[in-house]
Amino acid sequence: MNDTSASDGDIATVCCYCGTGCGVRVSPQPDGSLRVEGDEQHPANFGRLCSKGRTLGQSVGVAGSRLLQPQLRTGKDEACQPVSWDSALDAVSSKLAATIAEHGPDAVGFYLSGQLLTEDYYVFNKLARALVGTNNVDTNSRLCMSSAVSGYKRTLGADAPPACYEDFDHAGCVFIAGANMAVAHPVLFRRLEAARAANPGMKIIVADPRRTDTASLADLHLPVLPGTDVALFHAMLNVMIWEDLIDRDYIAQHTAGFAALRARLREYTPRAASQLCGVHEDDIVTAARWFAGSPATLSCYTMGLNQYSNGSDKNAALIHLHLASGHIGRPGAGPFSLTGQPNAMGGREVGALATLLPGHRDPADAGDRAELAALWGVPALPANPGLPAVALFEAAAAGRIKVLWIACTDPAFSLPDQALVRAALQKVDCVIVQEAFASSHTLPFADIVLPAATWPEKDGTVTNSERRISRVRAALPPAGQAREDWRIVAGVAQRLAASIAPQRASLFAFADAAAVFAEHAATTAGRDLDYSRLNYALLDRLGPQQWPFDGHAGRSRLYGDGVYPTPDGRARFADIGWQPPADKVSAHFPLRLTTGRLRDHWHSMSRTALVPGLTRHQTLPQLAMHPRDMARHGVQAGMLATLRNKRGSAVLPVVADEGLLPGVVFVPMHWGGATLGGLGINALTSRAVDPHSQQPELKLAAVSVAPARLPWRASLQVLGDVANLRSRLDMLRAAFPYAVAVAISLDGKPGLQLELAAAEPPAPAVLQQLASVLQPAGALLAAFDDPARGVLRRVWLDGRTPQGYLLAGDTAAASALGAWLDGGAAPASLAALLQGRVGGPALARVVCSCEGVREDAIVAGAARGLDLAGLQRELRCGTGCGSCVPELKRLCQRATV
Ligand code: SF4
Repeated sequence: MNDTSASDGDIATVCCYCGTGCGVRVSPQPDGSLRVEGDEQHPANFGRLCSKGRTLGQSVGVAGSRLLQPQLRTGKDEACQPVSWDSALDAVSSKLAATIAEHGPDAVGFYLSGQLLTEDYYVFNKLARALVGTNNVDTNSRLCMSSAVSGYKRTLGADAPPACYEDFDHAGCVFIAGANMAVAHPVLFRRLEAARAANPGMKIIVADPRRTDTASLADLHLPVLPGTDVALFHAMLNVMIWEDLIDRDYIAQHTAGFAALRARLREYTPRAASQLCGVHEDDIVTAARWFAGSPATLSCYTMGLNQYSNGSDKNAALIHLHLASGHIGRPGAGPFSLTGQPNAMGGREVGALATLLPGHRDPADAGDRAELAALWGVPALPANPGLPAVALFEAAAAGRIKVLWIACTDPAFSLPDQALVRAALQKVDCVIVQEAFASSHTLPFADIVLPAATWPEKDGTVTNSERRISRVRAALPPAGQAREDWRIVAGVAQRLAASIAPQRASLFAFADAAAVFAEHAATTAGRDLDYSRLNYALLDRLGPQQWPFDGHAGRSRLYGDGVYPTPDGRARFADIGWQPPADKVSAHFPLRLTTGRLRDHWHSMSRTALVPGLTRHQTLPQLAMHPRDMARHGVQAGMLATLRNKRGSAVLPVVADEGLLPGVVFVPMHWGGATLGGLGINALTSRAVDPHSQQPELKLAAVSVAPARLPWRASLQVLGDVANLRSRLDMLRAAFPYAVAVAISLDGKPGLQLELAAAEPPAPAVLQQLASVLQPAGALLAAFDDPARGVLRRVWLDGRTPQGYLLAGDTAAASALGAWLDGGAAPASLAALLQGRVGGPALARVVCSCEGVREDAIVAGAARGLDLAGLQRELRCGTGCGSCVPELKRLCQRATV
């Protein structure tokens, strides 16, 4: 397989969203745009892309979206001001030197990102450990994959996923637990669909509290109560033992610890486990039989296992099933964690977590520290334990962190228990934010802003879920004055070394990204992941490679010989029991809130919200509830409800979802303070952590739901620069208990939608201010106001083209005006529409982003008897990336019912 760095003017690089690591070919166009296509030669995707990957080009060059120059705050009450790079780097270096001298190195913390490239991580990590002298360097991968790391290390001996993507083609049974692949890893889900089509005998089991789009492919759905997977997996192993489905030879020859676990498993009968996890005991038995009885079973799992205070136990308990049944180290068999972020795996290799060192070393191990110190040419590395993400922010809130350097992540959006996070950011003396996007929720806390280059402006490498290292190549120069992350860090490191340890300045004299990679790769020599013989020239010649890499080829799957990287070469069964999640439901907080992803969005939406087509599938935040829970808690579909617990609250519109377990409510994780208002959905999530992985329990919070009595409503859509509109709105939003602001696409142009609600009509002056703040360029066409009743109805036009509307106190015309703004027909009489004398057409949401096909057309087609193939033929929906196919099937199924 050859991967050339460029062909026909295209540049081969990698999609920057998820850990699937799809190859893309990009080509800058004469008009300044960027053409992006799937790379047919890349073994992660063979040309396939999902809705996010296909539209990457549209996320580039959006006015107002980027940070373009360094900034510095000169006084605590002053705003940040633009400065030169030299001034910014000097300021960071002096602040670090002064803090180390006055408070010691552990008063400095680094909080990085799974979206950094391997080279960025490496230089950050070296700065923290070899120059500053602290292990306080952690990343947002702590929120994502650290329980997978712990699970692998506790059972298999090393943080190394044994399987690969090709295993989908060989599996006889696929067990998906805590992963909504159809939404979070769509290209892998397409591969699974294709494998199933080629092998109709394949069994697919999905364990998830929600009947997700992924579950729609399942032969068996196990609706497991959040946080109880250990009981489910133990019961499956109990059945395997009872029915003699285990592989005794494999257990005897290649594992240790089975007897102790086996004794514990006696209490996890299917009936007993069913009481804990809510899955019917017959289904537990069937799942165990299919898992063990298949010629090859592959498990796929991600946040639904990891983001719990017992997440590493869940990982270990799932891996036990593979060890006990011998489904590991063979084609189609093995446990396979799917990484969330594009380079979370690279971060694990580089040791960019407080609990890791480069080359899968351990900072708690004196031998590992000495080995790395020798490689780096420094006398010693710090022995003090570093602070993982949650503990780092707790220390910051307690005043123990004086300088916090945050890169390529948005803790004021993504960390749980936002009240504490915001307090921590306010407490720190100096917050350094190294960031590409102007929409970061963390920016208002920054004392120094370092504008970073981002995709497609960077050069380096990433490693995907299947241990495959790919080259990331720049296709455009950095925007404005932005710089590559590793160069920013090296610039600070050289200044800091000159000030506190001149003999170490040479540690950071990297000529280019290739030199950084070469030094990093050398740290893997002799380790389980050894790719010390890999370099950029080989990656250019051979294409993406898996580790370990022997100089010619990478290894597809691990442990084929049954030898594990443990002292005795045996894998381990961990003697673990089920531990309940940290948040307990109670009479006050009787519901379990779980969070997850949406198909077309990524994390805080800093990039996906810039792409018009990606905002139309689910535009507004919603709280999904089972109809039975809705009735019990007095809410109805479309009504606003208050979600509350001891940490915070949020107001959201309710949507009914019969696919949810009763007692479980769901909100997508994408809604931060910028969209939802307040502190976003993470105001409610828990910072309780897993004792092994230190990963917080983002997937489960005990909450209450009650009707939000906010009868006064306002709705607005307006074309324009979203960042600009948001900044004009910020002060006003705080006046409303419900104030959702989302980026939208209107007839292909960017805009903002604002939804407000309040208990009483606001003062007329507030309404007038709202109208004037948001008034777009163009003449005011129509105004039917009744300020005494808190009613404002306005539509703005530029010539005959609508530019926006504001409906306050009476939102009846919102759908019709929205349809008009989105390219639909103009109302016959605007006055009649605004006065409520006539209705108008409403636009259904877009289901197929690639072809822009709306739900009403699909439902009508399905009602006429069209199946998936018929819909694809007639409407073209589902013929692009395929991400909407599960939803199309669901709509067809609903029509049949
Ligand atoms: Fe990008 Fe989609 Fe591939 Fe993930 S599955 S890497 S988001 S194209």
